[in-house]
Amino acid sequence: MAKIIAVNAGSSSLKFQLFEMNDESVIASGVVERIGFEDAIFTLKFNGEKFEQTLPIPDHKKGVELLLESLIEHHVVESLNEIQGVGHRIVQGGDLFSDSVIFDQNVANGIASIANLAPLHNQAHLTGYYAFKEAMPGVGHVAVFDTAFHSTMAPETYLYAVPYEYYEKNHVRRYGFHGSSHRYVSGRCIELMGNPEHSKIIVCHLGAGGSLCAVKDGKSINTSMGLTPLAGIMMGSRCGEIDPSVVTFIMSETGETASRMDTIMNKESGLLGVSGVSSDYRDVEAAANEGNERAQIALKIFARRVADFIGSYYVQLGGVDAICFTAGIGENSFTARANIINEIKDALGVEIDEEANRSREPDRLISTPNSKVKVYVIPTNEELVIARDTKRLLNL
Ligand code: AMP
Repeated sequence: MAKIIAVNAGSSSLKFQLFEMNDESVIASGVVERIGFEDAIFTLKFNGEKFEQTLPIPDHKKGVELLLESLIEHHVVESLNEIQGVGHRIVQGGDLFSDSVIFDQNVANGIASIANLAPLHNQAHLTGYYAFKEAMPGVGHVAVFDTAFHSTMAPETYLYAVPYEYYEKNHVRRYGFHGSSHRYVSGRCIELMGNPEHSKIIVCHLGAGGSLCAVKDGKSINTSMGLTPLAGIMMGSRCGEIDPSVVTFIMSETGETASRMDTIMNKESGLLGVSGVSSDYRDVEAAANEGNERAQIALKIFARRVADFIGSYYVQLGGVDAICFTAGIGENSFTARANIINEIKDALGVEIDEEANRSREPDRLISTPNSKVKVYVIPTNEELVIARDTKRLLNL
């Protein structure tokens, strides 16, 4: 019995899933939210039951202790010795990490050294790691990077056409994110296609944040996010691809500072910025259905931008066998999928089976037998990727 805990530590939250790796089942999951507050919330789910507690949790260390104690208290495990590995999600691995690694002090130093590339994320992940390391010193820890899957991109894909010294001295390049999701979904798609020797897949991870990935023979050759998760498609509140001059133009016209521009592009743009309604796709869709024109145009931009990347990756892949939809919007919104397919159907000969598109079955084909490209809906599972890599690296 190998139990592994997959952890995603944010600056004020800590999400986890406890896996039984023999059958890859989730035996418990939960989240510590509002760390640092008097009214922090701890939620634990197992056996179809949910326990919620509001209490002061001053820091991650306390959050981890609470989480581990409650696993014992609720008899999810009888002793912490049953947990043989801890896998940590790390957003930014820079060009230091091209695969998951055993997490030790050297790796922690490496992650800290590139924290300027993802200031909010990497520091929080390290805080989570140190808290778990202290609570479970005798157990193996593994770092799993969102960027690692994209380390197979070629220089002509990851370099920006800016002076080369910014790449050499400041590590400015495309890294891409959502790697664990793109890896999981493309791998599952290859399985569903019967494990062909060669495959050309486009994964559309459409959530609050979103990115596309072109996967050739199981390897990422391009992805829409860049130096940061701001690049690529339109997102809930992020602008995605824009003419870079938009930034300097707005600054000189309105006097906005660089840091305000960062907030505007990350938190006030995307579906929210265009519609003025919400960053949540469901809210924007509801407003569009009630006749709100800005909401309607926001949904059209969203579909068009995704279609633009599909077209571009179709060319780079030299064709496409399958397009996969995943994450909150990709898995749940049949209208978002239909709008996107509508943009590409004539060029790519894609045909959707309406009934399959509306069904809620996981891991399903939604294209017709006549379609020139297969289209799948595949729920993502980044935590399972983390747990599998932890098992692999710790030889469990
Ligand atoms: P994620 O970041 O993967 O959790 O995805 C969050 C996004 O998924 C939000 O924009 C939600 O509005 C969207 N979403 C979740 N469920 C649905 C649904 N049933 N229909 C449309 N969008 C959904």
